[in-house]
Amino acid sequence: MERTIGILALQGAFREHIKAVQAIGWEARKVRLPAELLGLDGLIIPGGESTTIGKLAKMYDLLQPLQQLAHSGFPIWGTCAGLILLADRVTGRASDQPLIGGLDIVVKRNYFGRQVDSFEADLTVPALVDFSPPGEPVSPFHGVFIRAPAVATVGPAVQILARVDMPPTGEGIIIAVRQGALLGTAFHPELTTDRRFHRYFAHMVEELGHPAEAVLRPSAVRAS
Ligand code: GLN
Repeated sequence: MERTIGILALQGAFREHIKAVQAIGWEARKVRLPAELLGLDGLIIPGGESTTIGKLAKMYDLLQPLQQLAHSGFPIWGTCAGLILLADRVTGRASDQPLIGGLDIVVKRNYFGRQVDSFEADLTVPALVDFSPPGEPVSPFHGVFIRAPAVATVGPAVQILARVDMPPTGEGIIIAVRQGALLGTAFHPELTTDRRFHRYFAHMVEELGHPAEAVLRPSAVRAS
């Protein structure tokens, strides 16, 4: 059965996600209106500016349906700003910044500060084992971090998928998590040519098989 992944296309790096989803042979669809959520099997919330994406989502009546989806087992992957929007709690945000929530984590915006505004790091991600050549060790995933957030604390149901070791302490900072149908990465897999994270998410979508219309109340997505 043909499955479709939606990409929230309000602001930010959505084009690159569309290309990456198509590159792994899946149908990708831009989402700007609530009715465009119907027919989706999963959704990606891209990086960009979480304040802007949240405000636009509210303006376009997408916030409520997105909250419904995030809290009911529909697969959603947030990258960078998308991770911020999926967090239940965010530090360093204005009190009126709208959130979708669903991930039982505390996220700190712009965690890595001004000195290392943007950086790249090779990450060890054991969960990618099924999407790597068989019999070989999982090669590191090249993480591109752009004014990235980090996960400060996680609740008991949250699985930590990857950490980045930061000098000078070498402390492992949490930058990829999964909780049920929700996936969050603080970096930008769509800006590299490594498609293993997109395959990982597509596999989640296949496994969970939870289409949007199974969740959304018709009133939340009526054509406006
Ligand atoms: N710093 C941005 C924010 O707080 C996120 C950056 C990104 O998505 N690349 O929303």
